[in-house]
Amino acid sequence: MEFKEVREGKAKILVPKAERIYDAPVFYNPVMAFNRDLSVLALRVLEPKEALDALSATGVRGIRYALETPVREVWMNDINPEAFNLIVENIKLNFDGALEVKEKKAILEGDKRLISTNKDANLLMDEAFRYFDFVDLDPFGSPMPFLDASLRAVKRKGFLGITATDTGVLCGAYKNACLRKYNARPLRGELCHETGLRILIGAVARYIGKYDLGFRVLFAYYKDHYFRVFLKLEDGAKKGDETVEKLGYVYFDQKTGKFEVENAFLPSRKGAYGPLWLGELKDEKFVEALYNEAQKAELAKKRKVLECLERVRGELDVPLFYELSMVAKRNKLEVRKPDLIVEALEERGFLASRTHISPTGIKTNAGLSDVVDVLRSL
Ligand code: SAM
Repeated sequence: MEFKEVREGKAKILVPKAERIYDAPVFYNPVMAFNRDLSVLALRVLEPKEALDALSATGVRGIRYALETPVREVWMNDINPEAFNLIVENIKLNFDGALEVKEKKAILEGDKRLISTNKDANLLMDEAFRYFDFVDLDPFGSPMPFLDASLRAVKRKGFLGITATDTGVLCGAYKNACLRKYNARPLRGELCHETGLRILIGAVARYIGKYDLGFRVLFAYYKDHYFRVFLKLEDGAKKGDETVEKLGYVYFDQKTGKFEVENAFLPSRKGAYGPLWLGELKDEKFVEALYNEAQKAELAKKRKVLECLERVRGELDVPLFYELSMVAKRNKLEVRKPDLIVEALEERGFLASRTHISPTGIKTNAGLSDVVDVLRSL
């Protein structure tokens, strides 16, 4: 394997040289630096003591956590032996001190405790019952094969960071795969990214309850063809009940673009999409804290991170949105600038905002007919 050295945040990382990232023996995707930046910010705000990067590849994520956040102990695990060897090299490249390597485990005891393992992530997480304050799942595709074990490896008041890159599944291009993996009926079309994100969170809500746990969403977003969710676990059967109570369905009329959400454990009529999470996608204080940290931090994609957080700060936290290009097309109207529509809706007394999910989407408590009226009036 030939390597090159890249810098990301405060880390120096050896990554395999390859024509295409998916051909490399160990995976490194520079586009995901944005995802890792936001995760670094999350750990700076949440200050976990022990963190697990369960699917680590080059170790870049865990190494950044150790270099850029107050975390005390970081575990970096990968089932691929070549990835394990590279994590060990990358730890040596970034930290002083003797690294003790014993078969499939390497430990560095320094200011921070760094541990690299070469195991199946589910096995590792089951051996570390309720050990971690923060568990990070950043898999190829769906996190579902690792979800249940992560819910046991994390402390009862801990945090989870979950990535899903199987957007085709969650957004309905592969309906059967969504039924199978997420036990949910996906919605195709203009709302698919938000419903995909909500199906992912909804699946966690349905898995977590059996442990008498619930959660609050700290921040959930869609970007660059992946979903990412930060959750704060809440302890107790009551919290589990409250979490399940935020599940529901959406009904969507492809012809008119009208959507309706139903907050219920089972749908009351045919044609429902879901189950999906109808609760919050952000905690305002947490997003504000991420934004403040982002201003101070040395990040790989600082400008993009700040832009995203600025949009999210101003985003109305209600389920779903109106895609203006589609509203205009269906009603044979001209598309207008989203900011103009937001302003006009606010002038009429509605709440309205842009959304990070689509550059031409509008979140509002107004109905479709109000949005059409506004578009017609401009
Ligand atoms: N988190 C990494 C980052 O930020 O660069 C990228 C991880 S990559 C998308 C997914 C990794 O999961 C691969 O390196 C793969 O070898 C590893 N993997 C797949 N199945 C696994 C399993 N059952 N247990 C542990 N690692 C696994």
